[in-house]
Amino acid sequence: MICPVCNGMEELSSPCGVCGDSVVDEGRATDWLGPYAPYSPPEQPAALSAAGPDTTVPEDCQHAVRCPACGTFSTAAVPLLP
Ligand SMILES: [Zn+2]
Ligand SMILES: [Zn+2]
Repeated sequence: MICPVCNGMEELSSPCGVCGDSVVDEGRATDWLGPYAPYSPPEQPAALSAAGPDTTVPEDCQHAVRCPACGTFSTAAVPLLP
């Protein structure tokens, strides 16, 4: 399963939920919100253990997107390709 946006096969296009303009891709939300994000608090043992075998396999790639018109950050789910 691959993400067509992460692999450069497709441009992410999604309307801004606030103003309706087209948002721009800011990369994977998992990179953005993940445990290695620079602003994450370093002491979170519960979150680390939660990333174990119980983690469900995502069926789509969560991308962080930003609206250049109004500056709103949000996420967009990109369906994965087999
Ligand atoms: Zn992706
Ligand atoms: Zn907007």
